[in-house]
Amino acid sequence: MTLPLGVLKSGRVRFNPPLPAQKVQAIKQLGMGVLNKLYLRFDEAFWPDDVDWLEYLGDQRGQWAEWVSLARTMGQPVLLGFNAATLGREIESWSDQKIVASAMRTLRNMFGADIPEPMAYQITRWASDPFAGGSYSYYAVGSSPVMRNHLAAPLGQRVHFAGEATHREYFGTAHGAFLSGVRVAREIE
Ligand SMILES: Cc1cc2nc3c(=O)[nH]c(=O)nc-3n(C[C@H](O)[C@H](O)[C@H](O)COP(=O)(O)OP(=O)(O)OC[C@H]3O[C@@H](n4cnc5c(N)ncnc54)[C@H](O)[C@@H]3O)c2cc1C
Repeated sequence: MTLPLGVLKSGRVRFNPPLPAQKVQAIKQLGMGVLNKLYLRFDEAFWPDDVDWLEYLGDQRGQWAEWVSLARTMGQPVLLGFNAATLGREIESWSDQKIVASAMRTLRNMFGADIPEPMAYQITRWASDPFAGGSYSYYAVGSSPVMRNHLAAPLGQRVHFAGEATHREYFGTAHGAFLSGVRVAREIE
């Protein structure tokens, strides 16, 4: 069972018999965070193309603060903007047009009023994705590492639990998810 913590939290998947209390508590108290991306493709790069990361300190804390340029590494005139946590969650309810316009206002503050409109965009909405319910897990206030062990504990010899949220050291990562799968493979050997 490798359902994301966000899916387990949603209650959309029901277990019969119900999950043990410690597992239910872990699902409730560990947090599922949000990190969303907006990719903007332009005709050509109008930003410095010899750096990968562009940081912005605007008047709205954390909003469009972090950008990655794909110009140097991939030779593509593409900018990737991030929004995390509360704002990342909030903008999921915005229309695509509103998200792109908000990002463009920030880019105009950074690079000047005359930069062009993007030719194309891609937007993620991880929190509203019914198969994700967020981006990756974190320690919410009131949670603790032992809760990841409770989440990872098998139900008898039948149902085994893997996925990033079950890894105590490398939660929130691809390698944490992979290593949790290795652990389960050993459990059922
Ligand atoms: C924006 C972003 C950036 C990231 N950056 C990094 C990074 O730089 N480095 C890094 O190591 N990690 C990064 N991660 C985290 C990494 O992607 C995850 O930790 C990892 O993919 C989790 O793997 P998983 O197998 O636990 O879950 P998932 O990859 O989410 O797999 C769960 C699977 O369950 C399926 N599923 C969901 N609900 C159901 C259902 N009801 N029935 C059947 N199937 C279902 C889903 O479709 C999905 O295929 C990032 C994640 C995000 C969102």
